[in-house]
Amino acid sequence: MRIDVFSIFPELVDGFCAHSLLGKARAAGLVDLRCHDLREHTEDVHRSVDDAPFGGGAGMVIRPEPVFAAVEAARPPRPLLLLGPGGRRFDQSLANTLAAGQGFSLLCGRYEGIDHRVREHLVDDEVSIGDVVLAGGEVAACVVIEAVTRLLPGVMGNAVSPVTESFGEAGLLEEPHYTRPAEFRGWAVPEVLRSGDHGRIARWRRAQALHRTLSRRPDLIAERGGLDDVERSLLEEFPPVAYPHRVPVEPPRKSAT
Ligand code: SAH
Repeated sequence: MRIDVFSIFPELVDGFCAHSLLGKARAAGLVDLRCHDLREHTEDVHRSVDDAPFGGGAGMVIRPEPVFAAVEAARPPRPLLLLGPGGRRFDQSLANTLAAGQGFSLLCGRYEGIDHRVREHLVDDEVSIGDVVLAGGEVAACVVIEAVTRLLPGVMGNAVSPVTESFGEAGLLEEPHYTRPAEFRGWAVPEVLRSGDHGRIARWRRAQALHRTLSRRPDLIAERGGLDDVERSLLEEFPPVAYPHRVPVEPPRKSAT
C-alpha cells in the first residue's frame, strides 16, 4: 500500500510512523509511506507557503501554488484527502474502505487552513478526525494512517478480529480483557475467564460487550437494530463488570464577586 502525505512538517508524520508495528511494516515493504514537504515547491527565498487572507481577518492561509506543485510532482495515489475539521468524520468504516484499496494520500493544513481552490480543484474529499480544532493536519494524518495500516494483512502480530473488535461486524464495543496475575491488590479476574469452559467464556464475553455498549454507546445498539432474544438472556445470565464512574468535566466556576 502506498500512502503519500503533504505537509509543511513532513518529519512529524514520518517520525511517528517510524516506530512500532507501522515502522516494521514500512521496513518490510508492506507500507510505502512518502512524506512530501510543501516548502520544496516554493519559489521564493523564504520558502513561504502562506499568505494573508483576501478580505482581511486573522491568521494566514496556505497558498495554492506549492500544494498543486507538490501533488502534481508526486503523482500520489488517490483518493487525495484533505484533513480538516469540516470534513467527513473519520471512522472505522472509512478505515476499512481505505485498507481495502491500493493506497491513498493525505494533505495536512496549518494556520487558518488552505486556499479553497485546493478543496475545489485538487483533493477528492475532506476528512475530519472529530469535532475539535487542531493546529495542523499532521496528527490527524497519523490517526488515519495508523487506523488503516493496522488492518493490512501482515501488519499486526495477531490478525485483527473483524467481528469482536470495537466497531467491528458485531457493531459493539469490545469486552474487557485481563491478564496475569489472577489477583492484583485483592481484585480478582472474573472466575469464568479462568474456568476453561470455552462456551461459557464466549457467552460471558458477548454479554460484557453488550453491557458495555448499552451503557456507553446506546447509539451503536440502535444502529444495529437493537437486541435479539439470545442477547437479552445473555445480559441476564452475566451481570456487568464495573466501569469507572463518569466524572463530568465541567468548566471552572466563576468565583462570586
Ligand atoms: N480555521 C479552520 C481550522 C484550521 S486548523 C476552521 O475553523 O475550520 C489548521 C489545520 O489543522 C487544518 O487546515 C487541518 O488540516 C488541521 N485540522 C484541524 N482540525 C482538524 C480535525 N478535526 N481533523 C482533521 N484535521 C484538522
